[in-house]
Amino acid sequence: MLQNKTRSDKPLEKLSNGENDAKNDEIVDKLPPLQDRFGRTFDYVRIAVTEKCNLRCTYCMPEEGVDLLSKDKVVSDEEILRIIRVLARMGVRKVRFTGGEPLVRKDIIQLVEGAASTPGVKAVHLTTNGLLFERHAKDLREAGLTGVNISLDSIDPERFQTITRRAGVETVLRSIDLALDYGFPRVKVNVVLMRGFNEDELHSFTEMTRDKRITVRFIEFMPFDAHQIWESGVHFASAESLVHQIEEFYPGIQDAPGTRTEHHTFQAPGYAGKIAVIPAFTRSLCGNCSRIRVTSDGSIRNCLYSDIEYNLRDPLRAGASDDEVVALFRKAFAEKAKDGFESKKQSAARKVSVSDIGRVSMTQIGG
Ligand code: SAM
Ligand code: SF4
Repeated sequence: MLQNKTRSDKPLEKLSNGENDAKNDEIVDKLPPLQDRFGRTFDYVRIAVTEKCNLRCTYCMPEEGVDLLSKDKVVSDEEILRIIRVLARMGVRKVRFTGGEPLVRKDIIQLVEGAASTPGVKAVHLTTNGLLFERHAKDLREAGLTGVNISLDSIDPERFQTITRRAGVETVLRSIDLALDYGFPRVKVNVVLMRGFNEDELHSFTEMTRDKRITVRFIEFMPFDAHQIWESGVHFASAESLVHQIEEFYPGIQDAPGTRTEHHTFQAPGYAGKIAVIPAFTRSLCGNCSRIRVTSDGSIRNCLYSDIEYNLRDPLRAGASDDEVVALFRKAFAEKAKDGFESKKQSAARKVSVSDIGRVSMTQIGG
């Protein structure tokens, strides 16, 4: 448990409601929101800040890792913060840093600080595997991070090692407690559930919400793993089957408010935390999509399932004006398909394949 003496009170008070303070409402040069032709508004950006990772989750990365981008291809701090500033003018209120493992990026604290102090930005979150979190938790909190999602697919040390090809479950469990101790307004645990792999741990995970003020989120497995597990006979567990099991564990369980992608959110009677199920593969969440994705080499993706990308980094480096950056985002979202199934078809029709772009892992897209 965290000792009181290591806490810093000032930023914790400032951020206690999960949002940054009112100074961030003052946006000069506000622009019309980023919308698509289906009336969806995009106010949440997920930025992959690196492809590097200190784990090798079997469903995400090949054992030997992926071919890494040369350093000059990765978007810089200044470029990331410029993208965030322009998006905030278009109404983006939430930023998530992801990867790869965002905590292996050396300047992650400065990125969080820069995002949190960008006018208009209300929430800055991070998705991490939790291995380096203990080292950075205090600085992240002070820098203005308002939410942390920690990924953990098994509580059993041996199985954790099988899934991630590394040791570390105890560290990840400590990171979850530490995030709560530091008072991060949103603490979530991401679990990719696979039939025949870790589905038997569903109940152990839901029981974590008994005393901990966390949301445990079960995410459907998606085929972004260089086709290792997807084609190896490990079976996909559907959101529907997970919801069914949760309802059986907790008769009378109540629906609870969740985010737009947490299609099913519950709270067991008397429990401190919540349980959510994310239909990431069955894609019943697409109608509520509010996400903009930026890859670590600075391309815009308008859908996780689309292979079509809009290169933002090169125009930025060639001196593009804010208006030109805005125009590129508007073009990307004007071309967004109705849902993930249509996105796949659209990519196929344009003969863009994953191998053309060279992205074989979620680390390269940002999850
Ligand atoms: N390294 C960080 C982590 O693991 O939290 C952030 C990046 S990771 C790509 C973001 C999320 O995507 C994690 O929760 C991970 O479990 C999830 N993910 C990765 N590959 C996936 C797949 N094939 N299907 C479903 N979720 C996946
Ligand atoms: Fe790394 Fe996260 Fe992918 Fe696991 S899921 S290999 S921790 S990027």
